[in-house]
Amino acid sequence: MNDLDSKQALFEVPSISVEGPASQEGVSPEFDVDLFVIGGGSGGIRAARVAAGHGARVMLAEESRLGGTCVIRGCVPKKLFVYAGRFGDALDEAADFGWKISPPRFDWPSLVAAKDREIAHLEGLYAQGQSKAGVEVVHSRAVLEDVHTVRLADGRRVRANFILIATGAKPELLPFEGMELGITSDAAFDLKEFPQRLVIGGAGYIAIEFAGLFAALGSEVTVVCRGSNILRGFDEDVRQAISTSYTNRGITLLLGDSITRLVSTKASGSVEGRATINVVTEQGARLDADQVLMAFGRAPNTIGLGLDLAGVKTDEKGAIIVDASSRTSVANIFAVGDVSNQFNLTPVAIREGHAFADSIFGGKPWQVNYANVPTAVFSSPEIGTVGLTELEARSRYAVVDVYKARVRPLAAGVTGDCEIALLKLVVDGESDRILGVHLFAEDASEMIQVLSIALESGATRADFMSTMAVHPTFGEELLGMRRPTVRYDRR
Ligand code: FAD
Ligand code: NDP
Repeated sequence: MNDLDSKQALFEVPSISVEGPASQEGVSPEFDVDLFVIGGGSGGIRAARVAAGHGARVMLAEESRLGGTCVIRGCVPKKLFVYAGRFGDALDEAADFGWKISPPRFDWPSLVAAKDREIAHLEGLYAQGQSKAGVEVVHSRAVLEDVHTVRLADGRRVRANFILIATGAKPELLPFEGMELGITSDAAFDLKEFPQRLVIGGAGYIAIEFAGLFAALGSEVTVVCRGSNILRGFDEDVRQAISTSYTNRGITLLLGDSITRLVSTKASGSVEGRATINVVTEQGARLDADQVLMAFGRAPNTIGLGLDLAGVKTDEKGAIIVDASSRTSVANIFAVGDVSNQFNLTPVAIREGHAFADSIFGGKPWQVNYANVPTAVFSSPEIGTVGLTELEARSRYAVVDVYKARVRPLAAGVTGDCEIALLKLVVDGESDRILGVHLFAEDASEMIQVLSIALESGATRADFMSTMAVHPTFGEELLGMRRPTVRYDRR
């Protein structure tokens, strides 16, 4: 992750006083608005609402749908699809618990329609929230013309005292032959037909979540991963646990391989009338697919935004460079969320937007705390992680104790399922402080949310040991680990 402290030193910008009553700082009659927000996603919406609540005159431009990536084509539809897949698993296992169910049938168009209804509902709530707060929302693309001027698609110019760039990111595309035959996660939520055979390029968050959910809905899934294992950057034991689990579920992991070409063909096995895509890989595999999902990361949405006209600096990936207060290289222009490519997660974008609005318009300056950002991968079971991985801890601490529990879920005794949950604590062997928690278990996302409070509060393993367990749960395993599985001592 980026070193925000060293970044802050790069900036030579006049400081803006944020002391005093709210309305004295960002509010100035010589401008049309006090704040112009470009982008109505997680970060922009929060910043606009909070700034307006502090008395600022706020305009927000959104070129697509209010809610942004998370609500329209990210976290929310993804999790709805994950739920859909889990019903399939539950129906499979229900008979073992006495349920008599005639063979269930999954209907993809019904799921897409249900998802669309919920997203339209959420989009409406966001629009209401902005309007109630007094934010003027314009449904238009907006670009910078100079440090105080924003131009809308119809040519209208708006002069703003402060500008917040919250334009997010978009899927990264690789220039291999036939790439136009593939889709990105944006389109995966609205496919007309369910893909019986899905090939996924990449092995990060999106690839692994979509592999899991489409497999659970009935697709035959292959993940093509250039590395030696999926989910680079996650704890090694967790990576191993999920790759074993996915393989057991019938998901094919092609490791150490990359997609080099896509060819449209009507090969055998294709659904009547539908073209098959032939996927060619570097290692010589040829796979037939109904859809190819390209999940190679996301690029900051900064192209054509007029950043050069205003003098806003970007890094080599096109991400806007910001300091710890989300301020860009231009004093009155700020950037939050994915467009600054730090922690590309919804709660981070929201908090950055909130901190910006409070600091500039609320007379309450504060900065986001980026320590111990928890994260989850919504596979089934889920991954939940916070703090240092084992390898990171070993490179920074002299003595590291690792505690691991591998647990067979209670229900597996009845269903015969071979899934094994993993719970892992990484501990500073000298101070006994917990440095990292890594879970691969049912509801790991919920557990890690609560465990991140313990980590942030400096909890020790002794604190875990003295806490009473709830039984029968996965979480109780974290409280009963008496001896480390392994100790690394460099002293
Ligand atoms: P966005 O939400 O992307 O909003 C940017 C908005 O700006 C967009 O609506 C865009 O249309 C608009 N825009 C862009 N340029 C302009 C312009 N020039 N003028 C006007 N409007 C413009 N994060 C999690 O924490 N948990 C998850 O489970 C999770 N799942 C995800 C699943 C998927 C498939 C994806 C793609 C992402 C997921 N994320 C998840 C990441 C999360 O969605 C992003 O981190 C978050 O949405 C970033 O918020 P943002 O405000 O920076 O940008
Ligand atoms: P990730 O960065 O997570 O993963 C990108 C994947 O693409 C990696 O496996 C990477 O391999 C691979 N890749 C990159 N370049 C190439 C290449 N040239 N050839 C072959 N493979 C390549 O990005 P995603 O698109 O999955 O997700 C984007 C971001 O959205 C995430 O980082 C996360 O911040 C957010 N997100 C969060 C979710 C959550 O919180 N649950 C869910 C979904 C998205 P390698 O590892 O070798 O670099």
